[in-house]
Amino acid sequence: MVETRHCEQQTAMSWPCAGEGGRTGDWRSMKPVLDPAKCIAAKKDSIVCMLCWVFCPDNVITRTAPPEIDLEYCKGCGICMEVCPSQAITMVPENEGQPALNVEETGCDV
Ligand code: SF4
Ligand code: SF4
Repeated sequence: MVETRHCEQQTAMSWPCAGEGGRTGDWRSMKPVLDPAKCIAAKKDSIVCMLCWVFCPDNVITRTAPPEIDLEYCKGCGICMEVCPSQAITMVPENEGQPALNVEETGCDV
């Protein structure tokens, strides 16, 4: 009998957790931003579409209306943006809207 975690499913599933390199969100350079005004699930207030949830390789998108993205573990691959049929998800630079650090602030001596 195959060991299962939370249900009777016997399919391969991944679950977000910290790896040797820490949380994947720590080293992401681009992050997804979801616009509920364009999201089909949000507009219908129903669990429909959900392509972002289906295709996220890190299982960090909730199956809710609207979907929520766990940025602690999102690695910024952009697949959710690619599969979204209504362009509700855009990828933006991780530090967008934040002031740029100068060399001293980064602690980098290279
Ligand atoms: S960018 Fe990649 S890891 Fe992050 S939510 Fe989208 S599909 Fe998942
Ligand atoms: S794929 Fe796009 S439209 Fe569909 S649920 Fe996800 S964000 Fe909403």
